Amino acid sequence: MSLFDSPDFDNHESVTFFSDEASGLRAIIAVHSTVRGPASGGARLWSYDSDQDALRDVLRLSRGMSLKCAMADLPLGGGKAVIMKPDGAFDRTAMFTAYGACVERLGGQYITAEDVGVTPNDMRAVRTQTRFVGGLPEGEAASGDPSPITARGVFMGIKACVERAFGRDDLRDMRIAVQGLGHVGSYLCGLLHEAGARLIVTDVDLDAMRDAEARFGATTVEPDAIYDQDVEVFSPCALGAIVNAETLPRLKCKVIAGGANNQLSTPAFGEQVLDAGILYAPDYVINGGGIINVAAEISGKYDPEWVDQKLDRLIDTLGEVLDAARAEGRPTNFVAEDIARSRIVRPEPAPAPAE
Ligand code: NAD
Repeated sequence: MSLFDSPDFDNHESVTFFSDEASGLRAIIAVHSTVRGPASGGARLWSYDSDQDALRDVLRLSRGMSLKCAMADLPLGGGKAVIMKPDGAFDRTAMFTAYGACVERLGGQYITAEDVGVTPNDMRAVRTQTRFVGGLPEGEAASGDPSPITARGVFMGIKACVERAFGRDDLRDMRIAVQGLGHVGSYLCGLLHEAGARLIVTDVDLDAMRDAEARFGATTVEPDAIYDQDVEVFSPCALGAIVNAETLPRLKCKVIAGGANNQLSTPAFGEQVLDAGILYAPDYVINGGGIINVAAEISGKYDPEWVDQKLDRLIDTLGEVLDAARAEGRPTNFVAEDIARSRIVRPEPAPAPAE
């Protein structure tokens, strides 16, 4: 299928394919929108089964970033990069240095940061080639790993959902299933554990599971069994498209609220989630903490108070979305998308000056 006919293509401003023979880099950078400001979004390093899968991922993720930045009311547009993870050993510094040169070639249209599989240290290599990078481990305005702020936003968002679904303002003894114990998932588990929630968790990484048992008293289950748990809240914090026709009938929760991007198999699937009586926190609203943190860095002066205020406002916005969706009887992600799109409006081109 051609790029323009793909259902994931959403009038993206540009999609650029890069390769660098010396380092083995193969990457795609998608700029969905620069209407609100430079397109921003992390770079994902992943073993894709095919180029089509990688393209699909970058199209969907970059679109999500435009919606996310609009919902967090940031002066940023949406973009994303995917880097094909080589099969064997590779020189990570060389690859991310080459990637930095690609970002530089886009001349500031796209500002990169970390996503799945990418670390602040990788961003250090990127910085040797371009200033269009956030999530750095050091430097005047460096914000480092955005995951703790993302996890804090997800935690606040879970509370907002629980309040609406169960009429409770605390999480004591609530059963919460967390899928994925990486950067976001593990910080989130810490906050949920402190709040007295009972955790049922999974990961494909056995060490992460043992760690969650020891640190959070979590019950661990096989990755596929996470959908069958008797829980109040399901919190996806791994990869996308995990709420789909196969998994939805298995879910027993009343709330889906987690950090992963693109949780629904398609945006239209929001209808089925609503019909199943589940309150879904749109992913690009609840997980906007990380991009708020990166935006603070991009502004040139990292101010933690500004980050806190933006995060509070974002979770208020999530509450407004949930309430409007209930009042209108519509899927939460439809309501969120309407708000986001109303905030991404390209100004009319100025008329040519008179002769
Ligand atoms: P990560 O790579 O640190 O963690 C992902 C975890 O999921 C890993 O531990 C991995 O082993 C696990 N996993 C992979 N496949 C799994 C499966 N089938 N079942 C269970 N676990 C599985 O990534 P992260 O930074 O924690 O991000 C997690 C999700 O949140 C991603 O979708 C990412 O795009 C999204 N997100 C992250 C941030 C951030 O600040 N890091 C911000 C917004 C959104």
